[in-house]
Amino acid sequence: MRMNHDLRGCGNIGAAVTDSPLEAHRSNETRLAGLTIHRALPVRGRRMVGPWCFLDRFGPLTFANGKPMDVGAHPHIGIQTVSWLLDGEIVHHDTLGHDAPLRPGGVNVMTAGAGIAHAEETPKRNSGRLSGVQLWVALPDAHRNRPASFQHVDAVPTLILPGGLAQVITGELGGTSSPAERFSDLTGADVEVRPGEAVTLPLRGEFEHAFFLLDGDCVFEGQDIEARTLYYLPPGRSEGEFKSREGARVLLLGGTPFGEKVLMWWNFVARTTAEIQAARRDWAEHRRFGKIPGYRGERMEAPEMMRLAEP
Ligand code: MN
Repeated sequence: MRMNHDLRGCGNIGAAVTDSPLEAHRSNETRLAGLTIHRALPVRGRRMVGPWCFLDRFGPLTFANGKPMDVGAHPHIGIQTVSWLLDGEIVHHDTLGHDAPLRPGGVNVMTAGAGIAHAEETPKRNSGRLSGVQLWVALPDAHRNRPASFQHVDAVPTLILPGGLAQVITGELGGTSSPAERFSDLTGADVEVRPGEAVTLPLRGEFEHAFFLLDGDCVFEGQDIEARTLYYLPPGRSEGEFKSREGARVLLLGGTPFGEKVLMWWNFVARTTAEIQAARRDWAEHRRFGKIPGYRGERMEAPEMMRLAEP
């Protein structure tokens, strides 16, 4: 197992970052409604990257029958969920009445704001394959209590680069901007490096970034990149070089360091314990979040609230 190389506070920000070992965080394997996932955010030592506060990787897997993904009805507050697939298909259902299929190249973005509930499942008609990520973006204070909304983008824009390309899931990269609604300055991109090639990504100096190998093999500026590991890049970079022997897909996340302390518990992101308690109670007592007309599966109950420290 890899050690964490946490360089914050060691005077490394800005200068000579390329010669330093990268800050690396191994993801945690866990189960979500029967599906094995690798959670790369939050991890010990790295809670956020810009406004990004959650990264679950699921698959790649194949199946002959049943549905590997069936995440029952559950509520959210204070975030956007961003669902992105490399292979296969899922369907999103929410309390606003959306039933939105998702395929590779498109993105489902749900803005929870003051409250929404949703479910995500493998559709009956499917390819027998599943591979993707689920991400959360913390909403800044000015927007976190807005009314809930949902957006499906069928095909995100692509930034063509020497040696590969980047699909811009949300935010902006190298002048290419996704139509996905966003409430802070950020980047979320799926970068493809062709076999035997190198891709130099344009990065923004005011952003912190992280990347996660989704498929294939990758060398970042001379360092071999491991699977299931989140690599963090502090602010102060204008580019980053990714090389691959057999080809690679790399998820890139970035944003201005989030200036607000957030409190994250279960599916809720807030600022105070009282807000979390109120959301938990409203879900338990069938208030605020509503019903999901398009989903007949189970309703997930919140765990007991044990200790919950103020941020
Ligand atoms: Mn969810």
